[in-house]
Amino acid sequence: MIINNYEVLPGKNATLRIPVASLPSGNTVNLFAHVYRSKKPGPTMLVIGGIHGDEINGIEIVRRSVKNGMFKNLRKGSVIAIPLLNIYGFINFSRGFPDGKDVNRSFPGSKKGSLAARIAYTLTHDILPLCDFGLDFHTGGASVYNYPQVRAYRDDEESMKLAEAFNMPLVVKTGLITNSFRKAAHNKGIPIVVFEGGESLRMDEFSINEGLRGIVCVLAAKGMIKSDPPKMDTVVFETSSWLRAHRSGIFVHYKQSGDHVKKGQVLGIITDPYGGPETKVKARNNGIIFGHNNKPVINQGDALFHIGYAK
Ligand SMILES: [Zn+2]
Repeated sequence: MIINNYEVLPGKNATLRIPVASLPSGNTVNLFAHVYRSKKPGPTMLVIGGIHGDEINGIEIVRRSVKNGMFKNLRKGSVIAIPLLNIYGFINFSRGFPDGKDVNRSFPGSKKGSLAARIAYTLTHDILPLCDFGLDFHTGGASVYNYPQVRAYRDDEESMKLAEAFNMPLVVKTGLITNSFRKAAHNKGIPIVVFEGGESLRMDEFSINEGLRGIVCVLAAKGMIKSDPPKMDTVVFETSSWLRAHRSGIFVHYKQSGDHVKKGQVLGIITDPYGGPETKVKARNNGIIFGHNNKPVINQGDALFHIGYAK
């Protein structure tokens, strides 16, 4: 396996620095890739975090998987672990790049494009062709707390199998977003599932532990480690939608991510700072809350609850 002109032989591990860009100060920006190879041939798994720079739980999950030596004794195959892709967003506490671009809308990228496009290109060009499947770790954006869940492409059997192997309580069937990492990988025949857990810029131990458990489950299912993790019940959702604010004001939520809801149930209220009327926010159908908004001051149309509906 050769990455950035560096060869990692079977039975060897390496930490590689791949130069991707430079800061205005002249410092080089490197992508860190931890590579683990068993002597025995087998599939190559990509584990990646921080495609969105402020989604720290995803970064922390990959960091801990590396730190804990999770991939050091693979029975077969290889693992490439990249804890942080969007280094610019990470140091700026933001989802995207300094020019506002979202790398997850910049794939497959280009060699001479914007910063986001260049980093996307490095991943598409230098890393993806080496991989057979991947796990992409995210965290809820913009004050949204996501209950630990995996998202898989509904029209790809391999993605759905990978989501099943990940063994989260919630699996959401989704489409593929244009220019996303997942779509670029799918176009190369590489199934990727997205893990979502917690809220951006906030550590959430529950989500981090669930993400780590998911990695172990996938490694075990693929025969890459010897482990027999307990199976959890999984609910697979065909559709999901956002319940949005019909007025502006102060939002108080009574229900939160992970809660089951019934049609007509009051999930929270919207009110104003002056003692005015309280407007109820009600569930439109039976389902489970995947994500809830923790932002207390909201505008009309803001997303409040992301709810999944079983078929
Ligand atoms: Zn994200």
